[in-house]
Amino acid sequence: MSDIIVQKFGGTSVGSVERIDAVAEIIKNASISNQVIVVVSAMGGETNKLIELSKHFGENPNKREFDALVSTGETVSSALLAMALHSKGIKAKSYSASQISMKTTDSYSKAKILDVNADKILEVVKDNTIPIITGFQGVTEGGDVTTLGRGGSDTTAVAIAAQVGAMRCDIYTDVDGIYTTDPKIVSNAKKLDSITMEEMLELAGQGAKVIQTRAVEFANKYNVPVRVLSSFNDGKGTLISLKDESMENALVSGIAFQKDQIKFTLHGVGDIPGTAFKILGPISDAEIEVDVIVQNVSVDGKTDFTFTVSSEDQETVIRVLESIKKEVDYRELIVDSNIAKVSLVGVGMRSQAGVASKAFKALSENNVNIQIICTSEIKITMVIDEQLIDKAVSVLHKEFELEK
Ligand code: ADP
Ligand code: ASP
Ligand code: MG
Repeated sequence: MSDIIVQKFGGTSVGSVERIDAVAEIIKNASISNQVIVVVSAMGGETNKLIELSKHFGENPNKREFDALVSTGETVSSALLAMALHSKGIKAKSYSASQISMKTTDSYSKAKILDVNADKILEVVKDNTIPIITGFQGVTEGGDVTTLGRGGSDTTAVAIAAQVGAMRCDIYTDVDGIYTTDPKIVSNAKKLDSITMEEMLELAGQGAKVIQTRAVEFANKYNVPVRVLSSFNDGKGTLISLKDESMENALVSGIAFQKDQIKFTLHGVGDIPGTAFKILGPISDAEIEVDVIVQNVSVDGKTDFTFTVSSEDQETVIRVLESIKKEVDYRELIVDSNIAKVSLVGVGMRSQAGVASKAFKALSENNVNIQIICTSEIKITMVIDEQLIDKAVSVLHKEFELEK
């Protein structure tokens, strides 16, 4: 097995020159016993600042130029980190996506990785030089810059780890690992020593932003062990395990939640074959991920069709729904942005019943109304009022005894 490890440092970890110096120290120590490849995010807050700037000349900037702009935060941090390593006598070179041919699709801001030049990266490593690669960035076949979506540096790191055959990918962040829920919302959330890949897939997919969902998908597909740990404190962090080795599966391992959501309801739509496809087909063609989907029992041949998407897709969805108005007849479109989702995830749900009713009871006792319920084998998702989300997460965390 190779002794290469990929280390990824998130925004807070490289948020200042002092932090970059501390991160360089972590890399230096790791390089004593391993060959190291580094992936870096923009300095904390920089991507948000660039997004703000982009809106100066209009709310909807050109997508190509938007990505060209917001990708630059990573260029800054990668070069600075290389300089920090030089100051410690370590050979390092920064690389942009284009320099390592991080090829992606051309869907700006949501680009998907197609290929990366692993040989180029390995050449640098062979030369005893640490490559410091910009996360989040990609490049199209035609050479235009793309980005991988918010939190995309995680995916860059795991994709590179997969391509170079690394023994592990370490995701350094500002918390000590993966917790039972966001420790910034529930202060007594418990750090997990390990979590199964499928649980992490669900938690990330349902909003636990500690790691981007596509990073977990890559790790799962290419069998890359991933560890999430702090760049601020020592500690083993949390291993996202490829195999489930525990004897007993947790009923609920974690709780994820997502705020920026929009619920669309097409009220009084015809209950005829092809309706769902006519609505969701063009939405998926616009590369919008639809999450919860519910269709009600019909009355007099009419039904209600509801789905949720991320808030950033609101305008596009409205445009799509306008464009299909001729083919899909509905009485009224109800748009509700005051919603959030909370999800319970645990592999133990497969073999034990009663999780859902326990959750519903706890929420009802705390006056949290559930608008939509949606389940899969190891997950229960509930759509609720956005204002009640922190309370709901805390109530459920307590109910399932997840605290430390
Ligand atoms: P980075 O900049 O290092 O990529 P992020 O802000 O993207 O960091 O992700 C880390 C954050 O994820 C944590 O600070 C925490 O608030 C949040 N988070 C959400 N859910 C969880 C969870 N289950 N465990 C740990 N952190 C979580
Ligand atoms: N800098 C990008 C963001 O803020 C990518 C990342 O941090 O992973 O979303
Ligand atoms: Mg992140």
